[in-house]
Amino acid sequence: MVLSNYVNTFGQFLLDKHQQRVHKIAIDANFTCPNRDGSIGRGGCSFCNNVSFSPNGRKPAPLDQQIHAGRKVLRKRTGAEKYLAYFQAYTSTYADIQTLRCLYDRALAEEGVIGLCIGTRPDCVPPEVLDLLADYREQGHEVWLELGLQSSFDHTLQRVNRGHDFASYVQAVRAARARGIPICTHLIIGLPGENSYHARISLLRVLEHGVEGLKLHPLHVVKGTRLANEWRRGEYQPLAMSDYTRTVADLIELTPAEITFHRLTGTADKKILLAPRWCSQKWNVLNAITAELAHRGHVQGYRYGATA
Ligand code: SF4
Repeated sequence: MVLSNYVNTFGQFLLDKHQQRVHKIAIDANFTCPNRDGSIGRGGCSFCNNVSFSPNGRKPAPLDQQIHAGRKVLRKRTGAEKYLAYFQAYTSTYADIQTLRCLYDRALAEEGVIGLCIGTRPDCVPPEVLDLLADYREQGHEVWLELGLQSSFDHTLQRVNRGHDFASYVQAVRAARARGIPICTHLIIGLPGENSYHARISLLRVLEHGVEGLKLHPLHVVKGTRLANEWRRGEYQPLAMSDYTRTVADLIELTPAEITFHRLTGTADKKILLAPRWCSQKWNVLNAITAELAHRGHVQGYRYGATA
């Protein structure tokens, strides 16, 4: 059983498009977040690790060193020679446009880097940032805008203190799509007060507004967060792995075949992960999702008539 027999994975999409393996190199460019510094909100999302924001809690290596290190590991592990610089940590558009251009240019100048994936919040993509990303695309680079939506339900977004609503996501999507920038939307399964119904509705709303990629992961409880306190008090119950894999399989069936899945699960550093413990076993989770789809005999887009 191979996941890519059932799901349009981003890895397979890149292989088909570029005729060779292309992998993301995750970068921490020392951005912070407007949901913590007061410009949009304070305190951050209830699941976001506070320790990372302490003045001395985080000192990422220089950009070129991070790319060299990532390239070395990926070359050894996969043989890949082409890479996407993935500005992953925190809000990777949260700086003035000159600073952003300088950072993104430096990444694109590195050997083997053929494009950018930029992770950010829906309320942090002003027109000048989108114009910059559109320019890179016109130059022939692979460019993806990764928008952290997490849920389409405003009451959930408020409950976890996201500091934005669904309307701001819709606005960002419209502006990015008007410039032809592919979007990968992040959704979290198992947010407080949500169940598989909410996950399905959020997916359908995202599909309605147009998207090229999706990233799903279970909500993690990590140390140093308000969610960890809620979990300790018994106010939040993490998902069971079987519930997660069933919900993900449902979402895959509901997703048209041409949309790529950048990720179907995720985990946190073992040093800070409190719950659910199963999410640290990434391959177990992916194998369980594959097994669930195989058991159903269904593939991505099944709800629209797609077959194996
Ligand atoms: S938007 Fe992202 S970086 Fe900012 S507080 Fe929320 S999870 Fe943390």
